[in-house]
Amino acid sequence: SIIGAVVTGIFTLLVGMWISWQQNDGSDEFSRAVSAQEFYPYYQPVVDIMTGKIAGCEVLVRWIRDDGTVVPPGAFLPYAEATGLIREITRQLMIKTVEDIGPLYKANPQLKVSINLTATHFDNADIVSEIRQTYYNSGIAYRQLMFEVTEQHPLRDLDLSQQIFKEIQAMGAKMALDDAGTGHGGLAYLQKLGFDIIKIDKMFIDHVCYDVTSETIVHSLHDIADRLGLSMIAEGVDATDQIRYLQNLGVEMAQGFIFSKPLPASEFVALVEAKANL
Ligand code: C2E
Ligand code: CA
Ligand code: CA
Ligand code: CA
Repeated sequence: SIIGAVVTGIFTLLVGMWISWQQNDGSDEFSRAVSAQEFYPYYQPVVDIMTGKIAGCEVLVRWIRDDGTVVPPGAFLPYAEATGLIREITRQLMIKTVEDIGPLYKANPQLKVSINLTATHFDNADIVSEIRQTYYNSGIAYRQLMFEVTEQHPLRDLDLSQQIFKEIQAMGAKMALDDAGTGHGGLAYLQKLGFDIIKIDKMFIDHVCYDVTSETIVHSLHDIADRLGLSMIAEGVDATDQIRYLQNLGVEMAQGFIFSKPLPASEFVALVEAKANL
């Protein structure tokens, strides 16, 4: 009947409005958080395992909400990447690194800081001028910077990406292949893009000393790095036998909970300063 159709129509309309209100609520909340600059860099120390000294850090994003809850990136990065909001978040993070660790890095020119980029950052060359503007005449010199690109998400335009790599490297910054061994593009990226560093994923480090296959993979990636003249960073190191294994293999650098979790800026600065006074 007509009445039935009208009632159903109105009902469908109301449900639709309710769903879109729900969705808007979620996405508006995230956009608001981005505008309110609620994303902060945490700093995980990277250690030179030959000397035991802190060589630098990796910047890992945290969403710190009004009530103080710390949200890890796994909960919002997929959304931030899908919407492109990650570009604005990364821009804000870079600016905050200057405030957080600029003075420390000026006083310790050997320290390096590593920032994660995503596939979206290689869709156009804007990132190059953002890096240049953010760090020009800042406490952090271009040659103290490193940018990580994961092999887990495909880069859409390898030629443009290669051009962007070259411009970043011409500034004096380094490029690292992140999560090496876990994705699909890895070897092609190594061939095409001209990396300086390979970061070998926790997935493999977890099983060295127990599993011959994982050791073979770590060994082979280290061999590739060696032959290409690249250095290597091992991720997710959380046991002393793993450190010994990596030292024997000749891997220079490592990060992981055995050294330190990612830290808020003040704690990272205090840790480096305490070590420097030893
Ligand atoms: P990732 O780049 O591979 O970063 C290393 C992750 O492993 C971090 O997780 C770190 O806290 C964790 N980790 C380090 N050492 C250990 C360890 O010994 N044991 C264990 N269990 N975990 C360890 P987090 O901070 O949750 O970040 C997860 C991922 O989110 C990162 O993986 C990276 O892909 C992404 N991410 C984080 N921050 C950013 C960012 O600012 N921008 C972009 N584009 N991605 C980011
Ligand atoms: Ca990374
Ligand atoms: Ca990684
Ligand atoms: Ca990883």
